[in-house]
Amino acid sequence: MDQEKIGKFIAACRKDQGFTQAKLAERLGLTDRAVSKWENGKSMPDASIMLDLCELLKINVNELLSGERLDTASYKEKAEDNLLELHLQEEKANKKMLGLEIVIGTISVISFCVTLIIAAGAEMPVWARVILIVTGSFVLALGIFYSIKIEREAGYYECQECGARYVPSMKAVIFAPHIGRSRQLKCPYCGKRNYHKKTLTK
Ligand SMILES: [Zn+2]
Repeated sequence: MDQEKIGKFIAACRKDQGFTQAKLAERLGLTDRAVSKWENGKSMPDASIMLDLCELLKINVNELLSGERLDTASYKEKAEDNLLELHLQEEKANKKMLGLEIVIGTISVISFCVTLIIAAGAEMPVWARVILIVTGSFVLALGIFYSIKIEREAGYYECQECGARYVPSMKAVIFAPHIGRSRQLKCPYCGKRNYHKKTLTK
């Protein structure tokens, strides 16, 4: 996806419709800085506002993602390219999130171990030892919570029975036994309980 081309296209369509950056931003409930960033090719409109944006600019999402007006002949081909591109972007973003999960998980476990070693070895009054262990445990719990939250939100779990891909509830993920990133979950589609593998895209 050519962000710069898309930005220029947004600017051209905005002017065609007689909007200033500020006016368009206001209609979308955003700051004009957001619109200016799209038009400079520095960021892409969020998926959540794409439909409203397209309606205001009198274009369709496929044209927005292509950064040009499309005739019916090239429409289908572009639609497939854009879908594939969105797929790849989702995959990349989810991979990054799962990498972050490992970093957060590792740091919180190491910091907990260091806390325990200090609490066990260093000379200090009992109350200080208690505070140190409580704080260490709290940081560990927070780290694990965020790791699980990231793991739940990045990508999907795949049911081995029916092949459905879905995002389970936070509670289901927290209480599910796991081997690596495969978790024992109940499939919301076929109802079978099994180890469901993590996949990056739908
Ligand atoms: Zn299933």
